[in-house]
Amino acid sequence: MVVTRFAPSPTGYLHIGGLRTALFSYLWAKKNGGKFVLRIEDTDKARNSEAATEAILKAFEWLGLEADGEITYQSQRDEIYAKYITQLLDEGKAYKCYMSKEELTTLRETQMANKERTRYDGRYRDFEGTPPEGIEPVIRIKAPLSGEIVVKDGVKGDISFQAEDILDDFVIARGDGSPTYNFVVAVDDYLMGINEVIRGDDHLSNTPKQIVVYEALGFNIPAFYHVPMIHNAQGKKLSKRDGATDVMAYKEMGYTPEALLNFLVRLGWSHGDQEIFSMEEMQRLFDPKDINKSASIYSTEKLDWLNAHYIKNMSNTELTELLTSYDIVLTSHDKKEILLDALKERAKTLVQLAQLIKEVITTPSEYDAKAVKKAFKGNAIEILNAFGAKVSAAEELKLPHDYHLLMEAVVNEMEIGFGKIGNPLRVALLGKMSGPGLDAVMAIIGKEETMLRIANAITALQ
Ligand code: GLU
Repeated sequence: MVVTRFAPSPTGYLHIGGLRTALFSYLWAKKNGGKFVLRIEDTDKARNSEAATEAILKAFEWLGLEADGEITYQSQRDEIYAKYITQLLDEGKAYKCYMSKEELTTLRETQMANKERTRYDGRYRDFEGTPPEGIEPVIRIKAPLSGEIVVKDGVKGDISFQAEDILDDFVIARGDGSPTYNFVVAVDDYLMGINEVIRGDDHLSNTPKQIVVYEALGFNIPAFYHVPMIHNAQGKKLSKRDGATDVMAYKEMGYTPEALLNFLVRLGWSHGDQEIFSMEEMQRLFDPKDINKSASIYSTEKLDWLNAHYIKNMSNTELTELLTSYDIVLTSHDKKEILLDALKERAKTLVQLAQLIKEVITTPSEYDAKAVKKAFKGNAIEILNAFGAKVSAAEELKLPHDYHLLMEAVVNEMEIGFGKIGNPLRVALLGKMSGPGLDAVMAIIGKEETMLRIANAITALQ
């Protein structure tokens, strides 16, 4: 069974780079009928916060990405890590190193002065004497000092590292006994049964060290897929300004989970030239072997385009539900179908949609000066008056078409073009020149409100 994982360190919010690898891992597990598990890597007490863990879980909930089984917290697994450290010590695969900070600094400085790679020199590897006093030893693992370590990567192919170029006997437990990152990742991935690791290629340099741990403990090595980074349009690493922000900020900006996930799946992965993927399609089609070898480019236009697509195709019931997060409560609005049908094609985000709705359902309190200048020429007031009278006299006004017929009647009777009524009526109803079809607007706000807005405009603008 395929078991994948997402293993965030709760040092900050979940950002979209992390979310993308989480999505890839989720999809791959689902495609194979496997499991996607979540592990919170909260061992760094100084930098972790519970708020960040909660923010990560909230983002997952918003996106509907559910992890399988219990969430694992590394902070609760000290005993497990201690057991494996003891095992390595007992087997002579790890050892205590009593080097002081000063000695370590001196070693570094000497190596730098000699233009050598800075690395631990193994001085306690086979130490048998009496250890110096007053030093809490760190535990170092015996890493291979020569030969090659090959990372079999499903995206990049085999990547070979020369041990003497990158390794030394690295620390697996600090002086206070706390285990280090590369050690706990390997132990946990093994114990949690994770056999396919999909993560950002910023972790590639850690992988040889994790392989050393796997081998020392006799654990199976999982399959790795290191995903290239997301770049901005300038080809640089994505910064906060480009969109590398908290995933929940996308909700605030009015993006739907469907659009965000669809956007992310296409950052670094493709299936022909298909752009729109439902969750079901993503699960069916995603394969990490198709992850691109080069960095992907973040594009806000693309995200907006996808979001507009999902908003446009969403049911009005679902939109009504989503809009409550943007201060728009339409549940009991009797014309919500007409309202949403008229506006959902015009918005790139739910924030924009909410704004468009407000503009329609709120009586205008002012009129755009430029629009007034353009619309209120000649006998505009007279035309509005004539239309107002028709609305007032009409008995059955329900659908946009009913209002349309009244506009047509005025156009015919006064022998004017449609623009002559359309422009001043638009300003009267919406306060400006843009907006959806007027017949729909009037059907949404109803007869009384239509008459009120026409009367208000005549009073204000005549
Ligand atoms: N905790 C690591 C991070 O947040 C990820 C570890 C991994 O994926 O192996 O960057």
